[in-house]
Amino acid sequence: MRALVFHGPGRKAWEEVRDPEITDEGDAIVRVDTTTICGTDLHILAGDLPEVRAGRILGHEAVGTIDEVGAGVHRLAPGDRVLVPCISACGTCQFCREGRYGQCLEGGGWVLGHRIDGTQAEYVRVPYADTSTYRIPDGVPDEEILMLADILPTGYEVGVLAGGVRPGDVVAVVGAGPVGLSAITCARLFSPSHIIAIDVSGTRLGEAIEFGADFTINDSREDPVALIKDLTGRLGADVAIEAAGSPATFELAVRLARPGGRIANIGVHGHPAVLHLEQQWARDITVTTGLVDGSSTPTLMRLLATGQLAAGRFVTHRFGMDDFENAYDVFADAAINGALKVVLTRQEEAAQ
Ligand SMILES: [Zn+2]
Ligand SMILES: [Zn+2]
Repeated sequence: MRALVFHGPGRKAWEEVRDPEITDEGDAIVRVDTTTICGTDLHILAGDLPEVRAGRILGHEAVGTIDEVGAGVHRLAPGDRVLVPCISACGTCQFCREGRYGQCLEGGGWVLGHRIDGTQAEYVRVPYADTSTYRIPDGVPDEEILMLADILPTGYEVGVLAGGVRPGDVVAVVGAGPVGLSAITCARLFSPSHIIAIDVSGTRLGEAIEFGADFTINDSREDPVALIKDLTGRLGADVAIEAAGSPATFELAVRLARPGGRIANIGVHGHPAVLHLEQQWARDITVTTGLVDGSSTPTLMRLLATGQLAAGRFVTHRFGMDDFENAYDVFADAAINGALKVVLTRQEEAAQ
């Protein structure tokens, strides 16, 4: 088969590799029909995640068809259409029993395209397939379901739920990339009084309005702290969600929160970010950070199937899998070309 292989920082290739095989009875081999590229893949290529070894097939999001199952797989059969999300789950360890699948102790968690070969390939081996895939409802396009593999549950769980967004809250979202936009659109479900999007890209701020923000701040030329103070009677945001992953954006998110406010970090950080306790120690703030679990995926799938989440709006560019190099280039230049999610589809399907 062909796959997108990481060859060390800055190097990758779409090339011929060995087909994946079942190595554990809980495995399934999934034929990848649709996959996408995540900002985290760019972090891997930048060398920010040194645990990802050269030779690894990247990718942790897919919609596909079960091709083969191990003897221990009971709920899936060849031909079943499934979502392969970024988080795998053994289903039985302490953390999985708590719904904290991202912290799975038995070889689950974020492993695809990280510690084992991933989904940017024609086929992928999915461990613990019964508890690591979701059957797809009829009538929802694959590319919309694909948005449930990572960005929507990440924005919802690590941003909106961890940040405790409540009706009437003022929610500030720093970073209007796909995950920030997910947080914005999911925050809407809770009827906040204002959602403020902050980014340096005018294009992305335009998207933020489409996804449900009602106020935008371009922090390349405006001061978000002063503007949000003005908007909130000098208090600050009830919830500040960090969805950019840089020291400056994290420190900004902390400054945007009101006393007693909540700061939910979603960003993937490659460098230390300072929590200024000399300024913050007496402000009663709560800071959360974490990895998505996917425990909200069934809920989000229902919202998507009933038209309450506009997932299709994330897809801005479509490619065949043979065009992976191009797709990476477009995604890496997202701030310029307006790319949100680039979707890659299996060639046969693309030709239909
Ligand atoms: Zn991701
Ligand atoms: Zn587990």
